[in-house]
Amino acid sequence: MTSALMGVLYDEGWARYGWPEQLGGFGGDIVHRAVMWDALARHGLPAMALYEHLEVLLPTLVALGNPTFMAEALPRFLRGEQVWSQGFSEPEAGSDLASARTRAVERDGGGYAITGRKIWTSWARYARWCLVLARTGTTESRHRGLSAFIVDLQDPGVEVRAIEQANGTDELAEVTFDEVLVGPERLVGEIGGGWRVAMHILAHERGTFGWFRHNFLTREVLDNLSLGGPAGDTLLGNALLDLAAVRASSFGGVRAHAADTVLGPRAAFVKLMLAASEQAVNDWVLASDPDLAVGVQDDHVAVNRQDYLFSRIVTVYGGSQQMQLDTIAKQILRLP
Ligand SMILES: Cc1cc2nc3c(=O)[nH]c(=O)nc-3n(C[C@H](O)[C@H](O)[C@H](O)COP(=O)(O)OP(=O)(O)OC[C@H]3O[C@@H](n4cnc5c(N)ncnc54)[C@H](O)[C@@H]3O)c2cc1C
Repeated sequence: MTSALMGVLYDEGWARYGWPEQLGGFGGDIVHRAVMWDALARHGLPAMALYEHLEVLLPTLVALGNPTFMAEALPRFLRGEQVWSQGFSEPEAGSDLASARTRAVERDGGGYAITGRKIWTSWARYARWCLVLARTGTTESRHRGLSAFIVDLQDPGVEVRAIEQANGTDELAEVTFDEVLVGPERLVGEIGGGWRVAMHILAHERGTFGWFRHNFLTREVLDNLSLGGPAGDTLLGNALLDLAAVRASSFGGVRAHAADTVLGPRAAFVKLMLAASEQAVNDWVLASDPDLAVGVQDDHVAVNRQDYLFSRIVTVYGGSQQMQLDTIAKQILRLP
């Protein structure tokens, strides 16, 4: 259903505002997109889920990707025909992303061969494309030796394995690459410039993404209001206050991006507040929905159960809560 909605939004023009004309958009900036997602959530249209990488990856791909490749790829993504994913984390490299071991080796005839293993790759089971962070320098080169490539997940040498999740959703997967060939047009940024690409993306995932996600959390509150009794009033108040804080701070990120900058380390605050608000909303839903607490089986309870369990892991994606606190301590407060 979400793909069909994306198709309609594109064909009617709404999804094309906020993206560059030379790549098939109608021009404008992220504020246009922010308004559209706000309106969709308010009217109860499905959460972005499969298409969340639109607001995580695309701003970076538009800024640093190959223009010819992106002119083909962007309309397909916007139209809901192709899903994208992000291959950063590895079994031995999560918080310490600079130790990533997936390797890209330059080939004699041009292009690269990628070999390695990524994990927790959201929506890889549905995705055609994965933005993969791979090592082109020595292991000791840490963040300076990484480069970013767009890999076609349908190419030979790619294997996508689902990871079973406690909340029953099919988001996460493990992806292995065995000498997967990538042409030079699929390099994003420069060789050795992968860290810059990753930081650009994470600034969106931690900063502006808060705007897009909090709209759907607000919708979750509205959808459950009829359940609420006075016992949950304090929890509801907490959740609404947290959502208001995310709305204000993440719109700062949207405005910064519209002015051609990114939030940088300040995005860590938005990510922390977003995770807190997601947990607050779901704490309130759990307290207000007696059917959820006792495990009644119906569609409404199933959605609430899925959302509740997901809210327990939101302190991890995009960099764990401890890593966000570390960023604030070191890069903003300049603590030793
Ligand atoms: C829902 C979800 C979706 C995700 N989607 C993607 C995706 O699409 N693509 C992708 O690449 N990854 C994705 N991830 C992975 C996510 O980015 C990593 O799980 C995260 O970066 C943490 O890495 P890790 O799991 O290896 O934990 P580790 O790095 O092993 O950390 C384990 C624990 O130790 C703590 N810790 C580690 N180092 C330090 C330190 N220096 N100081 C203090 N505490 C520390 C962490 O905070 C954490 O609590 C997703 C994760 C989740 C939960």
